[in-house]
Amino acid sequence: MSTYELPNEVTKEIDKISMVAGYLWQREWVERNGGNISINMTPLFSNFTKPESANFIAHPFPKEAAGLYIFVTGAGCYIRSLIDAVETASCILYINEQADGYTIVWGGKEDGFRPTSELASHLQIHLFNKENNPNNLAVLHAHPIELIVLSHHALFKDEEKLNHAIWQMCPEVRVYVPRGIHCTPYAITQSDELAKSTTHAFTYKDIALWEKHGATTTAEDIEKAWDFLDVANKGAKLLLTAWASGFEPEGLSKDQLQGLEELFKL
Ligand SMILES: [Zn+2]
Repeated sequence: MSTYELPNEVTKEIDKISMVAGYLWQREWVERNGGNISINMTPLFSNFTKPESANFIAHPFPKEAAGLYIFVTGAGCYIRSLIDAVETASCILYINEQADGYTIVWGGKEDGFRPTSELASHLQIHLFNKENNPNNLAVLHAHPIELIVLSHHALFKDEEKLNHAIWQMCPEVRVYVPRGIHCTPYAITQSDELAKSTTHAFTYKDIALWEKHGATTTAEDIEKAWDFLDVANKGAKLLLTAWASGFEPEGLSKDQLQGLEELFKL
């Protein structure tokens, strides 16, 4: 596998990915091969010499994906491997101008490496972002414990109530997950149905909470994507802790929430 000299900005992003992988593992949000990460790195490769087709792998992509550089985790690879074996467990691939195949320009060093089977659904989100939120380059899927627990609760059936329940737990949740959570109905993993409802979620929410499965988010970079899940999960954890202690939390009042919305222009 050829390795090309990467632009500095790309190396910095890869370091951030390893850092966030450590957070995800420590929090028990990415057991075994659970979770995946992809980054649209195309803007960081603007002065990069396009790879020759020596390692070309035929694969059909949507036409709009032509010319993209995508960082993606490997099929069956463990997120915890990104901490200190990032070149083994992930790769950056370049989708050719015909969108009928790709070349691995970095990483993918494990024998028999293939990009995650979630590549198609991640690409749908990147293509949606390209049109609608061009600053959002990172997509993160993980299994945040307390958010998953909440997706089993009756609150999950009422998106507005669920968001209010976690926003009212502390100011940070209201401020740093400003558009809130989408309650994404259960659909089998890797399905087109799940990919479609997730893309729809990002038209008006920061996080797609997949019922009885996990959470997916998109943000400017991997650290900000982590922050969305971290802060939202804090709200869920506070709520579950109050319930486990046997009381219904009072929550921030309507006026208190309004004060935050005005101060932070939410
Ligand atoms: Zn998952």
